[in-house]
Amino acid sequence: MQVVVIGGGAAGFFGAIEAARAGAQVTLLEAGRAPLAKVRVSGGGRCNVTHACFEPSILVQHYPRGGKALRGAFTRFQPQDTVNWYLREGIQLKTEADGRMFPLSNTSETIIHCLTDAARRANVKLWASASVKQIEAVDDRFLIHLKGDQTLRADRILMATGGSPQGHSLAKSLGHSITPVSPSLFTFNVKDDRLEGLAGVAVQSARVRLTVGDEKFEQTGPLLITHWGLSGPAVLKLSAWAARALHQANYQARLTVAWLPKDTDDSLRKTLQSVKSQLPQRLVIANCPLMIPKRLWESLCLHAEITNNTRWAELSKRSINLLIQSLIQGSYPVSGKGQFKEEFVTCGGVDLKEVDFKTMESRICPGLYFAGELLDIDGVTGGFNFQSAWTTGWIAGQSIAQP
Ligand SMILES: Cc1cc2nc3c(=O)[nH]c(=O)nc-3n(C[C@H](O)[C@H](O)[C@H](O)COP(=O)(O)OP(=O)(O)OC[C@H]3O[C@@H](n4cnc5c(N)ncnc54)[C@H](O)[C@@H]3O)c2cc1C
Repeated sequence: MQVVVIGGGAAGFFGAIEAARAGAQVTLLEAGRAPLAKVRVSGGGRCNVTHACFEPSILVQHYPRGGKALRGAFTRFQPQDTVNWYLREGIQLKTEADGRMFPLSNTSETIIHCLTDAARRANVKLWASASVKQIEAVDDRFLIHLKGDQTLRADRILMATGGSPQGHSLAKSLGHSITPVSPSLFTFNVKDDRLEGLAGVAVQSARVRLTVGDEKFEQTGPLLITHWGLSGPAVLKLSAWAARALHQANYQARLTVAWLPKDTDDSLRKTLQSVKSQLPQRLVIANCPLMIPKRLWESLCLHAEITNNTRWAELSKRSINLLIQSLIQGSYPVSGKGQFKEEFVTCGGVDLKEVDFKTMESRICPGLYFAGELLDIDGVTGGFNFQSAWTTGWIAGQSIAQP
């Protein structure tokens, strides 16, 4: 069985290694000069390999697209299997407080070395700088044309080209539909006086609600103020769930932030009134009674018409109302998406209806298999995107080698 894997990323490597171990002769084609480029930069250079979530029914809830299709796949290869797979290769993963799992070494080099070494030992032939420009299906076999006019033959192909538009075109040329493609996992550009000069300020838990046209989305989690607006896990998750709606709305939306999500109008009013009666002569801005960063408190106070000299005794009803509103219902205009691809992933890809998830084989073109981000699957941050790449790569690798 001659198998050609197109794309030397996480999914392509996993598929190639498993197919070769199952007995296929595997050639892995990578367009770039070096494979596993995204693994290298992933997780800030530490590679967030997977997430400590070992229950498939809960795991699938972290995928804005593809969760349903992955349900069965995760019963066969889930984060625990990823942990065990790496352990068998001599790599131990550790879990951080938020559930993200990294190599014990804290460097993505460990994962790159592990995958390239495992591929070499399994006799996978790795061709770098080998960009596939065309695939022809001829009599149950495939002809693969590379840039530079080389041609390869294959009995079966595993496509694992990630979010690359060229990969989408190749899949289309073999009869597949590509669902609308847009970015996911991005930060929000927000220009607002209340956030001016606060870059770097973070809260551990905020509730963010996004309104895009008629659609509403909500997330709770750490929130970070940046030079351009808002970031942090809460915003990245929101960007993932709202990826398609935001794309259609040209990234114009309204964000409502509760900096203290556990508080209500009543509870805050009680706290503020009690400080007002107990510490009437203290300055409001200098004496924050709430669990929010001092600089944020100062900024929200100024926005609520409280000056640097206002004492608690002088705090007007109007200022209290404005302050409470800013604390639990602050409204901010989203005017675009961040340009930095910190955790960028592609939403959209090969239509999942056209793929048999028991094998990852195309329902349209026999002998063609898919894995990874090329599919219409994407997860939120935390290791979920690599996990779907390992899972679909593993299943494809196992099945593609079967006679
Ligand atoms: C900066 C950054 C950090 C990230 N950090 C994390 C993280 O810590 N944890 C996590 O779970 N996810 C993370 N992600 C997302 C994760 O990297 C991807 O979801 C994952 O790499 C997808 O794997 P893949 O193998 O499907 O695609 P890719 O890793 O994109 O690999 C596809 C490969 O195919 C090659 N290719 C494309 N077209 C062709 C062609 N025509 N011929 C030959 N080769 C071709 C490409 O060059 C590429 O090497 C991060 C993403 C980014 C951008």
